[in-house]
Amino acid sequence: MKGRFAPSPTGRMHLGNIYSALLSYLSAKSQKGQWVLRIEDIDPDRSRIEFTKHILDDLQWLGMPWDEGPYYQSQHGAISHQHLEQLNSLGLVYPCHCTRAEIMATQAPHESDGRVVYKGTCRPINPQPMDTVDTPQKLRLIVPDRDIHFTDHHYGPHTVNLSSHCGDFILRRADGAWAYQIAVVLDDALMGITEVVRGRDLLLSTAQQIYLHQLLGFTPPSFAHLPLLCNSSMQRLSKRDKSLDMSHLRTTHTAPQIIGILAHHAGLIPSPEPLMPQDLIPLFSWAKVPTSDIILK
Ligand SMILES: [Zn+2]
Repeated sequence: MKGRFAPSPTGRMHLGNIYSALLSYLSAKSQKGQWVLRIEDIDPDRSRIEFTKHILDDLQWLGMPWDEGPYYQSQHGAISHQHLEQLNSLGLVYPCHCTRAEIMATQAPHESDGRVVYKGTCRPINPQPMDTVDTPQKLRLIVPDRDIHFTDHHYGPHTVNLSSHCGDFILRRADGAWAYQIAVVLDDALMGITEVVRGRDLLLSTAQQIYLHQLLGFTPPSFAHLPLLCNSSMQRLSKRDKSLDMSHLRTTHTAPQIIGILAHHAGLIPSPEPLMPQDLIPLFSWAKVPTSDIILK
């Protein structure tokens, strides 16, 4: 059994990131599994080496040593290219020249939850393998108009039709950067990850990843999503919540205090008390973890 924590180095980690780290660690360790650290630094515009250094240092300070890694997603471009060729050979890849403004202009009112659904404007009528995928242009993957079923280990059964949920999605950006969905699928598959634990904001994108796993001939990992940590305005924690990021928390709390607060919010202990991650391994059970989002006062 192999679990993973895969943060993006686009800012200092906050309590929500640590919550995901802790629960993926505890789930893996309670199954006597390995815990892998992977730095998801594929977005060249937003990733910074100093944030990667902070992630490594913060995890060590918090008492969560990883068994494998750190791996760096940005170093896996050749693997992504090889699998893009494979998808192209299936006739499922095409270039898209739409701007964001053009795509937004096609959105229907019911997509007001922030999702952007690509309507297939550039999809060829008779899709064929492209002669080359090397031309620098945005590439999309054709998705089927059928339901994908999966059972989240924590949130239960889900059905997603990719055609109406997101439409043909991006594999590679015009600037050559790999899109999150293909990068995460290849890394999870090739590292032998068997369990993905992460925030429920990524719950529905699981269907895109399962579709990619299937196309590429991989067995998808199991997925267990987590409730989100929200600030007092009921918004999901973000980099704007400076008082809950690690640079601030390390001046106001000890590592066991931070772990104790998160363990309490994970339903593992009745009240926050200082503990180390390893102390929580025998207490961990998915049945104790809440499904409702957690509001930090
Ligand atoms: Zn297009």
